[in-house]
Amino acid sequence: MPCLHGIFGGTFDPLHNGHLETATAVFAQCALERVCFIPAAVPPHRDQPDASAQQRLEMVSLAIANYPRFDVDDRELKRATPSYTYDTVKSLQAQDSARRYCLILGVDALSGLDRWHRWRELLDSIHFIVVRRPGWEIPEPLPAWWRQGRAEFIADLNRFECGKICLVEVEPNPASATEIRYGIAQGVDVSTMLPHSVWDYICANKLYGA
Ligand code: ATP
Repeated sequence: MPCLHGIFGGTFDPLHNGHLETATAVFAQCALERVCFIPAAVPPHRDQPDASAQQRLEMVSLAIANYPRFDVDDRELKRATPSYTYDTVKSLQAQDSARRYCLILGVDALSGLDRWHRWRELLDSIHFIVVRRPGWEIPEPLPAWWRQGRAEFIADLNRFECGKICLVEVEPNPASATEIRYGIAQGVDVSTMLPHSVWDYICANKLYGA
């Protein structure tokens, strides 16, 4: 059986329980070998993050400290160019071509895939594991590329080398980093949406107006 590795990209500004619960559930359901969190430096499609790259990296590291099969990778933070997932995947594959990579993402992120840099080549390089996110519907009808790639079973991730889009049903978590940043700035208690270590870090470093 091939070794399936999860890649979880995002701004993680900050990492919250929605991220952690998604990674944990997908890891177990898809029998992944590891999950690698890859914070983005310069998100091509969005505003610059509030916390610095170093702070976001530290928050991810703190959050996954007790998860032996989770790693954090800073390759996007070291690049001077935008954080294109295609480039990241190619550099991971160049490092270890025996691994089969699965990009974990919410339905909100996958819906815009056809605007990503070299997205068709990306689909031809890896699998996608998509999870539901409260407030976001799965497009109806599905775009052609999604329909064509749609996996019927999780086992398809093992049966096929790449190009499968697998919906994995996990307990939905409504947390969003935007809402957390906004809540902190407004003095709302958002601590239950975050791992303790991340909340302590935000308070200690006075991030987001804390
Ligand atoms: P922001 O509100 O700043 O856009 P975010 O909460 O969406 O941030 P990101 O770091 O942008 O977090 O997300 C990285 C990935 O995690 C994306 O694929 C996104 O769909 C997914 N994700 C974020 N929050 C959740 C959640 N609550 N449940 C499932 N997936 C999530």
